[in-house]
Amino acid sequence: MTSQSQNPKTSDTPPVRAPSAVPVDDTVLPFEVGPLDLRGRLTRLGPALDELLEKHAYPTPVAKLLGEAIVLATLLGSSLKFDGRFILQTQTDGPVSFLIVDFQAPDRLRAYARFDESRLTPGLDSGALLGNGHLAMTIDQGVDMSRYQGLVALQGGGLEEAAHEYFLRSEQIPTRVRLAVGEELRSGEGGRHHWRAGGMLLQFLPKSPERARQADLHPGDAPEGASVHAVQEDDAWVEGQSLIATVEDVELIDPDLSGERLLYRLFHERGVRVFSSLPLRAQCSCSRDAVAGMLSRFEAKDRADMVKDGKVVVTCEFCSSVYEFTPQEAGVEEAGE
Ligand SMILES: [Zn+2]
Repeated sequence: MTSQSQNPKTSDTPPVRAPSAVPVDDTVLPFEVGPLDLRGRLTRLGPALDELLEKHAYPTPVAKLLGEAIVLATLLGSSLKFDGRFILQTQTDGPVSFLIVDFQAPDRLRAYARFDESRLTPGLDSGALLGNGHLAMTIDQGVDMSRYQGLVALQGGGLEEAAHEYFLRSEQIPTRVRLAVGEELRSGEGGRHHWRAGGMLLQFLPKSPERARQADLHPGDAPEGASVHAVQEDDAWVEGQSLIATVEDVELIDPDLSGERLLYRLFHERGVRVFSSLPLRAQCSCSRDAVAGMLSRFEAKDRADMVKDGKVVVTCEFCSSVYEFTPQEAGVEEAGE
């Protein structure tokens, strides 16, 4: 690791305050490391993740992968304006064929996964669970704004790798992402199981753009193992990458380690500043009215086909809420007998 001594921190400049030792779950904590031109966000998820995952009886590997996608969506979507919406989706040919995380600013999260249980063999990592396909990220900033969609190929790598590729190719912002999901068993609650997740996004945003040049990934059509085009990366970004690389999964999900403590542990030599944290919660936006509205846009024949045992039942894929309608309510015309 290179370190140039331009660090203004001295022993007689006290920190604004000591890093809080109190862990706060279900938050995104923005931060910056000024001397290195680094900005980032740290997500910690506890009860909200439980709520998102436990509504579905996901096998553990599927729950973990969806948890990673949820963390990634919070890291990317939490910079949106107040009424924006960030949707992260994967569509792939692996055992987990579809994932969606819908983050509605400022704080609402919902998500679900589709998978083929028969293909879930033990030991599959995130990349193998996904397989080949693509990751799409959609930003919708409200009715008067245009929608933006970014796409990145998934080719056997996981979500961290896809995020790096996306930022390198589309945004051209040097970016590193870490994602971790784990299970916690608390003895005091009869061994009740809890999900935890954490993640960190780190970006190099120097004032002069030429400092942001990064080593390119080899082109997608190059043979595996093709040599990587050499670019001298900025020392500050080399240091930032080596610091985030030291973050252990267990630190990201540790319920007893506060986010501020973790950031201080990593960046204290350079001076890290944290901003106000943003709360997150699991809440679906479905409603009986919205489902009825959706039904009314179906073709009459499709609505009629949905009548089973004298009623129309619609289950929300995100939160598993069940909405029941009579055929009349669902706009199904009585078949003349
Ligand atoms: Zn719902």
